[in-house]
Amino acid sequence: MDDLQTELRVLQSHVDSLMGCIKQNETKLHRFQLLETNLLTLNSLYELIEHVLDDTRTVFDLDFVSFCLVDEKGEIEKFLEEEGLRVDKTPGLILINKSQHLEKLFGKVGRHYLGDYDKKKCDLFFPTIGKNEPPASVAIMPLMRRGKYLGALSLGSSDGRRFSMQMATDFLGRLSDILSVCLENTLNFEMLKRTSFIDPLTGINNRRFFDQRIGEEIDRAQRSDDPLSCLFLDIDFFKKINDEYGHQAGDCVLVDSAAQIKKQLRNNDILARYGGEEFIVLLSNAPNSKAVEVAERIRKAIEIQVFDCVPQQQVKVTISIGVSTYCPATQNNPPSITPAQLIELADQGLYAAKDAGRNCVVNQGELLTNKTLKKA
Ligand code: GH3
Ligand code: MG
Ligand code: MG
Repeated sequence: MDDLQTELRVLQSHVDSLMGCIKQNETKLHRFQLLETNLLTLNSLYELIEHVLDDTRTVFDLDFVSFCLVDEKGEIEKFLEEEGLRVDKTPGLILINKSQHLEKLFGKVGRHYLGDYDKKKCDLFFPTIGKNEPPASVAIMPLMRRGKYLGALSLGSSDGRRFSMQMATDFLGRLSDILSVCLENTLNFEMLKRTSFIDPLTGINNRRFFDQRIGEEIDRAQRSDDPLSCLFLDIDFFKKINDEYGHQAGDCVLVDSAAQIKKQLRNNDILARYGGEEFIVLLSNAPNSKAVEVAERIRKAIEIQVFDCVPQQQVKVTISIGVSTYCPATQNNPPSITPAQLIELADQGLYAAKDAGRNCVVNQGELLTNKTLKKA
């Protein structure tokens, strides 16, 4: 009888410990599902990084989390800077320029590392910790898609038993699989977002970008009462360049002209390729006189430039420019103008510049909302 009772007690304690395991796994599953759902609703790389660094730590109750990304061309750093996130000011975010670092550590297939903190394996992923106390145990999960390393997620705990070689890695394996897919999608999306607004030949913004921004700039000008100026530019006799030197030389002149125009502008001015050999510029907070000054500066810079586009030939071009300005402050209760009105006025200036013999700037002055034009 006693034996039976002892056996029952042993069995009961087995059941209790199994129930404990099930409960623990249930909690893990719940936390994991929360993290997974959040990961799937993110819209940008910025959000993904923030979420991985903050939420992983809280959801899994960790002491250290780091997110390492392979940034071979420095694009990720640029995307993030554009959104106001400085990599050097974001603890836990690590950008590396070569995926080979990860391949060396985790092989071609990207095996997880779980276990004690081993400086040789872990230094890269917990760099700021070097001087302080490193985590006692870590889980480093390489993030891969289609055989290519995208980065690694590293978790660290002060508890030496938290991560060990023998541990089942189902949850962590699934987390790294999901994170890899999310990361790949987000990077593709960020890339698309940018390339869809860039002219592939000249590298400056395209018309789609311009059409989107001009409305925003007009709204802003109206809210702040600041003037907004527009330049419409067209290279003179460009067809002749193609006819004389070939289309490749023509392309080269377009690229160099775009770069020269950009050089004459401030960082926050907007420059776009509007069409073939036509460019458009928006100068925010620039009164009409300033816009004419900038247009004249661009015209002169193009006039004196020798385009290094044909061997042993000194290729030269000129440019004609029309200028228009929207100045809400000079009108009583100015109604908002449409983008088309501001562009059309600059375009009329461009036509007038062509009629006047090219290589010149024609100022159409301020756009008045009752459509009468005030000549500057
Ligand atoms: P105008 O002074 O009146 O502006 O004369 P133009 O010759 O510059 O103007 P036109 O509109 O007659 O010719 C523009 C030329 O620009 C024709 C077209 O083949 C060329 N073009 C447009 N896009 C590109 C491009 O991407 N590359 C090259 N090489 N040529 C282009
Ligand atoms: Mg032209
Ligand atoms: Mg043209």
